[in-house]
Amino acid sequence: MGITRFATMPDGSTLAPLNAFKHHQTKLARAQRKLAKKKKGSQNWKTQKQLISRLHHKIADARKDLQHKASTMLSKNHAMIVPEDLKVRNMSVSAKGSQEIPGRNVRIKAGLNPTILGQGWFEFRQQLAYKQACQDGELVLVDPKYTSQQCPHCDHRHRDNRKTQANFTCVECGFTENVDVVGAMNVLARDTA
Ligand SMILES: [Zn+2]
Repeated sequence: MGITRFATMPDGSTLAPLNAFKHHQTKLARAQRKLAKKKKGSQNWKTQKQLISRLHHKIADARKDLQHKASTMLSKNHAMIVPEDLKVRNMSVSAKGSQEIPGRNVRIKAGLNPTILGQGWFEFRQQLAYKQACQDGELVLVDPKYTSQQCPHCDHRHRDNRKTQANFTCVECGFTENVDVVGAMNVLARDTA
């Protein structure tokens, strides 16, 4: 699970990030600025409040729809799904963020606070769990610790393997790949090891 990509699979395929509704987010921010300028309790203020509420619903519905489509598609095509264990990654991050989810960057990149982002991942995982259960499939949670630092080729683990936010290059064997893909490969390998 990630920020620039909502989810990445070990084969390199991805699911679009939650900020796919950026135009909605921009509209919402503008509507909220407008509201701040209106006299609290006035008719104008109430109308603006309603508009904001409708926008919130629209964004939530679009997000849910996307997650349901993606989880159904994954569940239909895979007998076993191995996501990272979000509990381990600690989703109760404050606005300050954590090492994995720096709060400020998240807000800038996704227009979302880390808590909302975490909720999105959690909901998606729940959907995968019950859809797998319905189809007699399996869902196995894996501790994601160091999965972005370990080489899927030679198993060498070092923080220097992660060159940038997006690039992984093993200092030992030279294997190079997108960090999210490496993470997904390692998560899967941990279960089947
Ligand atoms: Zn290596």
